[in-house]
Amino acid sequence: MPELNSKKTWQDALSNLITDPKELLTLLELDPALLDEAIIAARAFPLRVPLSFVARMQKGNPDDPLLKQILPLGLEMQEVRGFVSDPLAEQQANPVPGLLHKYHGRVLVTLTSVCAVHCRYCFRRHFPYADNNPGRAGWKQLFSYIAEDPTINEVILSGGDPLAVNDRLLRSFTNELAALSQIKRLRIHTRLPIVLPDRVTDELIEWALQLPFNLVVVVHANHPQEIDETVRAALLRLRSAGIHLLNQAVLLKGVNDNVETLVNLSESLFSAGVLPYYLHVLDKVKGAHHFDLPKAKVRELYLTLISRLPGFLVPRLVREEAGELSKTLLYP
Ligand SMILES: *Cc1c(COP(=O)(O)O)cnc(C)c1O
Ligand code: SF4
Repeated sequence: MPELNSKKTWQDALSNLITDPKELLTLLELDPALLDEAIIAARAFPLRVPLSFVARMQKGNPDDPLLKQILPLGLEMQEVRGFVSDPLAEQQANPVPGLLHKYHGRVLVTLTSVCAVHCRYCFRRHFPYADNNPGRAGWKQLFSYIAEDPTINEVILSGGDPLAVNDRLLRSFTNELAALSQIKRLRIHTRLPIVLPDRVTDELIEWALQLPFNLVVVVHANHPQEIDETVRAALLRLRSAGIHLLNQAVLLKGVNDNVETLVNLSESLFSAGVLPYYLHVLDKVKGAHHFDLPKAKVRELYLTLISRLPGFLVPRLVREEAGELSKTLLYP
């Protein structure tokens, strides 16, 4: 993979994602027999992955835990009872385009429908983003919704990936947000520092340092192999700018469904300045049933994890349920 060594900006990397299943299989020296099903599954939810993430995968290993998160499989096309398009009924908590208001005090805002990576288990894989992306034109409506509800004190930028937008747009957004004195915190849910650590630029750090409210960045890594030296450096940079760093992971069969992996994930995160926040059980989204784990297995794993780590390195095991007032905590 010679192109991995050349110096490029994160925008270049973002416009040079691997989207062709054949290219992915070739780069990783994988069995070409995987191609046909990958092409079909990618029609429903396209393949997207940065080269820098692929570079952390093991060549010739179809079971690589990073590969499994992004490789389209024929299994995704099976209809399985209980796995649906909108498991969280998000389309019902959507008062203005680009804004979800489900929980007290915080709203979730979508700045873009773009993600740098397409995670096959994503509960938003069927979400009608195109209709729900406010664009600059929709911001006015969005900010007036927030202004009209003084209980809202936290804005969460979420997926798509909010760090896929450029720093200029981020800055305009937070400049407008700063006019609302009710806002105490900005939270960003992003996978970019993990899958494309070059996104953490000087400009991003400068932007973060001038914000008039606290900034929390919730990254998303599922396996310790995702956190290599480049990612560690990017995370430590964010940390040294005073940003609170948390991680959310999803418990995925065949990826991180064993205690050693989960312990190592927490340890690697902490050594990069990140505290584990949530460990989500899989949302029952159509196309992701092959990542699902039996309840008894989840319980056993989690109880063992608790017995192995200091409390502050144990993520909260949660499930998201439509209509609930918070994430639902599972097991003590
Ligand atoms: C998960 C989620 C949040 C954040 O929940 P926390 O428990 O505060 O992390 C906020 N809004 C929506 C719509 C969510 O799905
Ligand atoms: S980065 Fe987040 S929103 Fe985007 S596909 Fe992955 S899990 Fe879904």
